[in-house]
Amino acid sequence: MSSTRIELYTGDSKMPQPDRYSLTGRICKTGKSYFTVRLLILLLLLCIFLAGELPGSGLPSPTFASGLSSATAAESPDSFQHKRRKMVAEQLKSRGIADQSVLRAMDTVPRHLFVPASLRHRAYMDGPLPIGHGQTISQPFIVAYMTEMIRLQPQHQVLEIGTGSGYQAAVLAELTDRVYTMEIIPELADSVGRRLKETGYTSVDVKQGDGYYGWPEAAPFDAIVVTAAAEFIPPPLLQQLKEGGRMIIPVGSPFYVQYLMLVEKKQGKITTRSLMPVRFVPFRRSQ
Ligand code: SAH
Repeated sequence: MSSTRIELYTGDSKMPQPDRYSLTGRICKTGKSYFTVRLLILLLLLCIFLAGELPGSGLPSPTFASGLSSATAAESPDSFQHKRRKMVAEQLKSRGIADQSVLRAMDTVPRHLFVPASLRHRAYMDGPLPIGHGQTISQPFIVAYMTEMIRLQPQHQVLEIGTGSGYQAAVLAELTDRVYTMEIIPELADSVGRRLKETGYTSVDVKQGDGYYGWPEAAPFDAIVVTAAAEFIPPPLLQQLKEGGRMIIPVGSPFYVQYLMLVEKKQGKITTRSLMPVRFVPFRRSQ
């Protein structure tokens, strides 16, 4: 997006200056009637320009505008459902996600309602998408994989750190009624509360704050899902994990390779297993 804007800006700043000079030159040479025609053309261009500035048409760039219109005109609930089916078959089942309850959850949650309206047409594509404030909604496969790895049961209580759009929380809420989720950015925490209610995920508890400390009042948890990359596993989260509990967390530096780690607590002992290299947004700390 930003590179497109830079290109447009560069184009604008390279307006054909010599033409402007030659215009003035020709006006002087060709007389009054030619001047009137040029004036009318200029007025017409001015009208077109002003019409483009009217409310509702002020879109950031032509590319973005065409993306929006195709999203709004062509997409119906049925077409989103079709895309979701395709996503489950081509991105999840084919890559080894086999847990039927996870596949059902991924087939149910309307991912397009958890991304910015201008990106709805890309909601079911095989990748992450920006959600504002420099954050992203994870790739569908990663959401499904992390959910499958924690082996959630209907009676389980789960904590998510990094609510973001609320999509992962909604997927978890398809598997258990006891979902707690924390988001450090106040604006995201505010908007996600509303979005989860509007989409019917009323059982999800959202708290704004630094997830490093977990949610002691609601602990212990059968499972913890962390969706931002931490340099190390926060000790309070280990403490809040139940005996027999599972945590999945990306660990590593924001600028180097990170690994998705599966953490288990068995007979008071912590074991960790590195699952795959990944790339997540950084785990932030409150000041
Ligand atoms: N699970 C999200 C993806 C979130 S991206 C979804 O489904 O959309 C990671 C999120 O973690 C960001 O929103 C970021 O603000 C949040 N985050 C980063 N550090 C955090 C922390 N210490 N505590 C809580 N949230 C944090």
